[in-house]
Amino acid sequence: MAQEQKSKWNGFSLKPRREMPEGLWIRCPACEHMLYKSAVEKNLNVCPQCNHHFRISAKIRIKYLADEGSFAEILPNLTAEDYLKFKFRGTTYKQRLAAEQKKSNAKEAIRIGRAFIKGRAVALAVMEPNFLMGSMGAVVGEKFCSVVDLAIDQKLPLVAVCSSGGARMHEGVISLGQMAKTSAAIAKFDETGGLFISILTDPTTGGVTASFATLGDCIIAEPGALIGFAGPRTIAETIKVELPEGFQTAEFMLEHGFVDMIVERKNLRSEIARLIDYCRK
Ligand SMILES: [Zn+2]
Repeated sequence: MAQEQKSKWNGFSLKPRREMPEGLWIRCPACEHMLYKSAVEKNLNVCPQCNHHFRISAKIRIKYLADEGSFAEILPNLTAEDYLKFKFRGTTYKQRLAAEQKKSNAKEAIRIGRAFIKGRAVALAVMEPNFLMGSMGAVVGEKFCSVVDLAIDQKLPLVAVCSSGGARMHEGVISLGQMAKTSAAIAKFDETGGLFISILTDPTTGGVTASFATLGDCIIAEPGALIGFAGPRTIAETIKVELPEGFQTAEFMLEHGFVDMIVERKNLRSEIARLIDYCRK
């Protein structure tokens, strides 16, 4: 390696270089430092420089959240039907689903099951942001309602990690119907006295924000998470007002009473365990 290519090394990051081998380095979208990927992974996919919480797959989220080997998945192979024969720019919904499954190594935009968190049994739902932007269609709705049923039947607290771009346009009104369906399931769960902890991660938007994500008895957000319904440009153009800076961040939401607390990824397990113990009757 030529002498001039060497940069100052501080253990996990250095200034960007053109010759960086792909796959070993990632750029932090918040502070723009080039970060050594394995150092970021060891830090629960949080930037060691600026505390930016990277988006993570459902598989990694479950690994971070659940006690090792405790996640027992249900309905892992449920996949969507193309009721509307939807086609966008020459690609059918079926083709898109197959491509997304290959890309994300996931069957759908949510995984559900039973797990333990610090020894406490929970019904766990984790959204998959890498599958069609974590969008909610019929399968997400059905699986979410199934995990609520599991929580009711086995008298478990329900923990849902939300990460979604909103409703799935490929399923039209069927996807919008999932907002009512999941909200009704949570209402039923609430009547049984169950505890629902909702965790909003980057990004939680659209139909998921407008339904189950914000129906938690306790709503937790990860630092810096984008949380909102419509995008800022759509809102500005619709209501014709200038929007305050950072109005769709977890911190703004906390200040305005939309979320109950912001918890760093490294503290999520202990905070969930504490809440379960506190609410136990
Ligand atoms: Zn950073």
